[in-house]
Amino acid sequence: MKQIIAEILMPLALDKPYSYVVPAHISLAEGDVVLAPLGVRETFGVVWRLFEGDPAKLKPISKRVDAPNFSENLRKFLDWIAWYTLAPRGSCLALALRPPELDRVDNIRLGVRLAGPPPARMTAARQRVLEAAEGGMLHTKRALADMAAVSTSVIDGLIDEGTLETLAMAPPPIADEPKPDFAVPELSPEQKKAADYLRAEVTKAKASVTLLEGVTGSGKTEVYFEAVAEAIARGKQTLILLPEIALTAQFLDRFSRRFGVRPSTWHSGVGGRKRERLYAATASGEARVIAGARSALFLPFKELGLIVVDEEHEAAYKQEDGVHYHARDMAVVRGRIEQCPVILASATPSIETRVNAERGRYGRVHLPERFGGRILPKITPIDLRKNQPLAGRWLSEPLLNAIRETVAAGEQALLFLNRRGYAPLTLCRSCGHRYECPNCSTWLVEHKYRRALVCHHCGHVERRPDNCIECGTVDSLTSCGPGVERIAEEVAEIFPDVRRIVLSSDMPGGTERMRQELEAVAAGEFPIVIGTQLVAKGHNFPGMTLVGVIDADVGLTSGDPRASERTFQLLQQVTGRAGRGERAGRALVQTYQPEHPVISALISGDADRFYREESRVREYAVLPPFGRLAALIVTAREREAAEAHARLLARSSQPPAGVMVLGPAEAPLFQLRGRYRYRLLVKTERAVQIQAYLREWIERTEKPKGNVRVTIDIDPQSF
Ligand code: ADP
Ligand code: ZN
Repeated sequence: MKQIIAEILMPLALDKPYSYVVPAHISLAEGDVVLAPLGVRETFGVVWRLFEGDPAKLKPISKRVDAPNFSENLRKFLDWIAWYTLAPRGSCLALALRPPELDRVDNIRLGVRLAGPPPARMTAARQRVLEAAEGGMLHTKRALADMAAVSTSVIDGLIDEGTLETLAMAPPPIADEPKPDFAVPELSPEQKKAADYLRAEVTKAKASVTLLEGVTGSGKTEVYFEAVAEAIARGKQTLILLPEIALTAQFLDRFSRRFGVRPSTWHSGVGGRKRERLYAATASGEARVIAGARSALFLPFKELGLIVVDEEHEAAYKQEDGVHYHARDMAVVRGRIEQCPVILASATPSIETRVNAERGRYGRVHLPERFGGRILPKITPIDLRKNQPLAGRWLSEPLLNAIRETVAAGEQALLFLNRRGYAPLTLCRSCGHRYECPNCSTWLVEHKYRRALVCHHCGHVERRPDNCIECGTVDSLTSCGPGVERIAEEVAEIFPDVRRIVLSSDMPGGTERMRQELEAVAAGEFPIVIGTQLVAKGHNFPGMTLVGVIDADVGLTSGDPRASERTFQLLQQVTGRAGRGERAGRALVQTYQPEHPVISALISGDADRFYREESRVREYAVLPPFGRLAALIVTAREREAAEAHARLLARSSQPPAGVMVLGPAEAPLFQLRGRYRYRLLVKTERAVQIQAYLREWIERTEKPKGNVRVTIDIDPQSF
């Protein structure tokens, strides 16, 4: 007899769904979330397909779960990502599935309030509870216990005695309704032109991609907010993707000044119940605008009308473990599937996006000038060959003078160095021993405030010894090179009376403290700010008139072909922090190679020339976006095992015309977290479907044994 069969995809590292029979009393639709037996447990899964067939020996699913349905579009999207990245489909599902806790009453919290006579036995603690509950207001148990400074068991006792009663309490709304006309700004003529174009795209409600390019401070946010307003007015949802660090109060306040309420936010810091409710509100359509980090791409939107990817060039959009996906590219795919426009905003677009715009694949709107007549900071190089700081110092005389002037004028200076910690290398003056990570091929970075040597790759920490562990010489260790902490030390010596702050992602206090500190900087509290790339991006510090780049050459020496692009983007972003307020700004760039193409393009402000040059190099080398690229990383705890499998892969690669397989070679970080790493690079012409080739290749190669692992990274960020 035929019965309904359900193919259930489980959020596990499996590519294929499992089949189950659907019992007659359960009614199911494709996309529903279910609980089904798997081995000895029950597991959540999603109905990928329903059909009539022979149940044979199939097990029945256990139950349908009350959770948002996975729309056909969302399922298509996940299938597409699995196809593109070669990750198991179940792993892609795991990015999106958020099953509710079972047996929990949804959306109801219990509140307590005064109801009956005082208890027979009165204690001091009970007395305090009654005082706190006075007035008959409804409180949560926790809140009442906190107010009365008692444990919740005291509250429970009073409930048992009938003094307090419990009531269902509706939770506060998770998402407020943004108002498209709350505070409409007056746009400059260029802004208006750009905004009109983007509004029209939203109105068409069709798939499209537009690059919104504009120098730092040109008012891109204001412009894409107009497109958001259009989507809200049409009853559609909007997703704004931001690099996680840009999800600050500053952005949220700005949104709320325009639309009357803050947007809902989705990032790794949003946890527990809030996460669950926001997920549901996205599915119901109640959440109109979600601002989120890359994981927000996988939310079950009901009617998506617009996706904005702000700072689209950001490397943080690339997920580097589990499913290796690039959130910007996947946003474009989701837009295509949902038939909605995508806006990619940046002052320094990625080469990929620039080329796509130039070739007409993407639309393009451009804001060439800063808003409100503000001018871009003048960028001047300081040639360190002629202005060498004293030994053990890093700030040259011209930079010090500029800091003095800035502080004297009551303005702010930002000293930028993209190196966390105190010193990137520690060595023994006596025997020359260099302190290296035991698990990775990198030097340990000294962190002075923690008195430790730290690996920035695996997190390994050891105490900085007093005497060399290799030769035992007393007090022989020396710190080589600067990190932000060391620059701060130098600043403290030279400007002992000036308030300064170090902003870097590893300072104590976590994200909340960092947000507060960023706000304090924006409010002008610190005349001197020393920071890593954390402060380089997106922030608006109106009092900042000087940006000093301590070492512009940092990123240029690596062998990675993307190094130039990255350095150019980063330096443009960081120098763009200057002069965003009333007063004009300037940037001083310390370098040993002012004639380097990246530095000279930065100084002349000729971004077009830089992009033309870089595109030419990429085109010549058939690198993205002119060709396709994938990396296969083979890792193992033993070097020989990793190398042997990498060689095996190379032998079975059989590249057809238009495909090139390079390697194996030691990966840039040869040892990482105790595993050895070999890399093969696959380069193909654009017309070749690299995924199909990779699948065949992996199929015909013997599977890795033991602890050997092969990771595939399509569009690797460093190559
Ligand atoms: P970008 O994102 O391009 O770096 P922003 O959108 O942050 O630039 O704009 C720079 C500054 O100019 C911000 O302080 C913003 O509030 C202000 N601004 C931009 N456009 C307008 C406008 N039309 N009216 C008023 N202020 C604006
Ligand atoms: Zn390490």
